[in-house]
Amino acid sequence: MARILITSAIPYINGIKHLGNLVGSQLPADLFARYNRARGHEVMFICATDEHGTPAELAAAKAGKPVAAYCAEMHDVQAEIARGFRLSFDHFGRSSSERNHLLTQHFAGKLAEAGLIREVEESQIYSIDDHRFLPDRYIEGTCPNCGYESARGDQCDNCTKQLDPTDLINPHSTISGSTNLEVRKTKHLYLRQRSLRDKLEAWIDSKKDWPILTTSIAKKWLNDGDGLQDRGITRDLHWGIPVKKGDQIWPGMEGKVFYVWFDAPIEYIACTAEWADAQGLPDAAWQRWWRTDMGAQDVTYYQFMGKDNVPFHTLSFPATILGSGEPWKLVDYLKSFNYLNYDGGQFSTSRGRGVFMDQALSILPSDYWRWWLLSHAPESADSEFTWENFQVSVNKDLADVLGNLVSRVTKFCVAKFGTEVPSAGEFGEQEARLIEELGTRIKDYAACMESMEVRKASAELRAIWVIGNEYLQAAAPWTVVKTDPERAQAMIRLSLNLIRVYAILSAPFIPDAAATMMAAMGSQDWTWPDDVAAAMTALPAGHAFSVPENLFRKITDEERADWQQRFAGIRT
Ligand SMILES: [Zn+2]
Repeated sequence: MARILITSAIPYINGIKHLGNLVGSQLPADLFARYNRARGHEVMFICATDEHGTPAELAAAKAGKPVAAYCAEMHDVQAEIARGFRLSFDHFGRSSSERNHLLTQHFAGKLAEAGLIREVEESQIYSIDDHRFLPDRYIEGTCPNCGYESARGDQCDNCTKQLDPTDLINPHSTISGSTNLEVRKTKHLYLRQRSLRDKLEAWIDSKKDWPILTTSIAKKWLNDGDGLQDRGITRDLHWGIPVKKGDQIWPGMEGKVFYVWFDAPIEYIACTAEWADAQGLPDAAWQRWWRTDMGAQDVTYYQFMGKDNVPFHTLSFPATILGSGEPWKLVDYLKSFNYLNYDGGQFSTSRGRGVFMDQALSILPSDYWRWWLLSHAPESADSEFTWENFQVSVNKDLADVLGNLVSRVTKFCVAKFGTEVPSAGEFGEQEARLIEELGTRIKDYAACMESMEVRKASAELRAIWVIGNEYLQAAAPWTVVKTDPERAQAMIRLSLNLIRVYAILSAPFIPDAAATMMAAMGSQDWTWPDDVAAAMTALPAGHAFSVPENLFRKITDEERADWQQRFAGIRT
């Protein structure tokens, strides 16, 4: 039994995520967690909400709520939706937790002790009416280069010139519109990533099995231009983790907080501590997942994320860990994803374009979405959601191939032989061939799951469903029963056992349907079918079963057209 630590990139707090976000981290991480649990491994699967930073403050202000209350509320909303999608986190924590406060301050203290923090005095725009320093993207004005009136403080969207906020003509705050701005001096902490560059490069070079998407992004940040830069890790904000050196005051940094990107990945560790707290377990229970001097030396750690998060996970977070000089667990394998596009364009939160997680669950159960998203995961390239493709995939794979087999076998058995596994007849040549082919296919499926090749794994699973259908087609018990009822009983006995095996194999992708299939087979034996021949006799003759409710319904053309229009968004 292996020990497997899995973290999904943590979703930002300000609103409900779309399906592209889901398939880029949480969902494939859940697939991997479920698979490894099914194989008997000890799994710790962690996710949380990412709660700090200016966008959270602004979203709270827009909602007319204190930011802490807003975050608590949105955390509950996201947790509820995660349950709806059957995301099987061991803990879904919060980056604003007390645990993360302490741990983030601890890391900052260790980095300072190691000489890896420098203090920098810089000039920033302060909005007198907003009572705050303004991040670059919250300042707009006229571009000095092209005259475009809505140029942002960091870049002009019209001529693409990189800007400094002080370059703008007639700058104003995008929060309040105020032009009552001034330049003020402020002090910030920088993590000296440049001095960790060689260490980071050696570590990344040692990861021979990482996807090219991951290592190429990391290498680009290490080497492009002037190479890896030191990174500001503090902000002049109210909402966040107060800057401290361990448990000590940091002179000159009073009233400032850590930058959200510094504390967010530390939440992976803190969240595991939150899990232990929630279980009433001592610190040793979470430390054995994270401290290589306290039991984590035999843990294999996998991270799942969209490609935009790769630089933070290959460079910034490892810089924090390596720089601390303490024996914390570093990631062993980083699985990154490209983007999922929506029906000829991009998902857009601001324009309401595409399907968001709550909307998806309001029109169809989670298994439909899980199956489509995972079987079209944007692994080697961006992929695209279209309603036509979704309809075809659901109707064919789920309803015609899997659902139909389950329904046909169980109904036929009840009609001809009753509600117990029939006892007569022997398995013959056809059954032996099916068992042999299943053995090979299940090994291939497991290999894809272990290497996190999500699309390939879904194709293998579908192929496993297909060979069951082909067997039934060729064996034709509904014809054979007229001339040789005993032989037909043997075929159906095998087919009922096949349904149980399908439940086990399919559960990581479609857990609800799998549970329905297993319950209908009157079993709770989820043992992985390493020995297919034995698995095909697990439900013995005389064992009671029932006909499950229709596992999957088909999507009609009218529904497809209706949904396509409903989620098209406001065109601009
Ligand atoms: Zn411009």
